[in-house]
Amino acid sequence: MNIPLSNISMTELEINYAKEAIESGWISSSGKYVGRFERALAQKIGRKHVVALLNGTTALELALRALGIGDGDEVIVPALTFVAPAAAVRTVRAKPIFADVDPENWTIDPGQVRRLITQKTKVIIAVDVLGHPADYDALLAFGLPIIEDAAEAHGACYRGRPVGGFGVVSVFSFFANKTISTGEGGCAATDDDSLAERMRLIAYHGMTKERPYWHDVVGHNFCMTNIAAAIGLGQVERWDELVEARNRVADEYDRLLREMPVLRRPVSAWATEACWLYTVAATERARVLKVLRNAGIDARAIWTALPALPLYADSVRGSYPVAREISSTAFWLPTWAHMPVDNIQCVAMTLREAIGSHISSPGGVTS
Ligand SMILES: *Cc1c(COP(=O)(O)O)cnc(C)c1O
Repeated sequence: MNIPLSNISMTELEINYAKEAIESGWISSSGKYVGRFERALAQKIGRKHVVALLNGTTALELALRALGIGDGDEVIVPALTFVAPAAAVRTVRAKPIFADVDPENWTIDPGQVRRLITQKTKVIIAVDVLGHPADYDALLAFGLPIIEDAAEAHGACYRGRPVGGFGVVSVFSFFANKTISTGEGGCAATDDDSLAERMRLIAYHGMTKERPYWHDVVGHNFCMTNIAAAIGLGQVERWDELVEARNRVADEYDRLLREMPVLRRPVSAWATEACWLYTVAATERARVLKVLRNAGIDARAIWTALPALPLYADSVRGSYPVAREISSTAFWLPTWAHMPVDNIQCVAMTLREAIGSHISSPGGVTS
């Protein structure tokens, strides 16, 4: 069997909207699906403004630029995440500072953040990593602006409130493997009118519709296409279905892996997780992954902990035992909305064979 890591879930709805977008002749960012997508999304996550963008990475960059972050500024970033938050900080010529993550939920550890705040700290980027919200009450107590990276967490909740609502700017990605997808795509959400206006200005050539071809700021072109927004509108209309479908896959994995010596990513009591990629940790990861991959199953090791990357040596403050332990033991099992049950069973069975009974789950990342 050949089982990919991820797969899309597109229906007639998305196809018809995309077709309509193309047939209308409005395929760039000027088409009407962009606004419809933005409004539908704003309503779904309970924010006043949503700006549709090229991808999640440019959304992070835009949020930083709109907040005026640049030379000499420090931005605290979790040590365990996809690299985009750190790269976006470097792109605006500021310095990411890595904070270790909490063994209770693998998100940025507020206790570690506290140690790292200096006069130069301007922003904290909190990542709702692998579908689990960061601890916003603890993070907001520092009184610094937070950029929330909810790229992997569509549908997750913190104390009953949906992610995407906790940052002064919150961003999502709609990359192909994310829970809501437009192929490539992203957005920045905020309740702040002037911040929203500033983001639109920077994202659209530093130009307003009221005064064409006049530029007070150096702009970019970060705008989402109408075709992507049309697909996105269909996906947002299916939001609950897509979130629940992934959670059902996670429930099935939970059931099948219950007796096995693997550590499921832990979830805090205040969190409602929305499964993105089903993540487990085990010792002898390399050997286990080899067995899975030889069986045609595209399971993959999690990210390198960012402090281990020489490119970011400047951003290291301390030793990051939690992020390093997770990074060296955790891996993803194939996960997508409506993944067939026989695929899930095949993965679980192969994992059981690979692991056998002689391996124990890694102790270092359990709470
Ligand atoms: C996927 C992802 C991004 C960036 O998304 P793109 O749309 O691919 O640029 C940013 N942050 C996190 C945590 C992600 O997982």
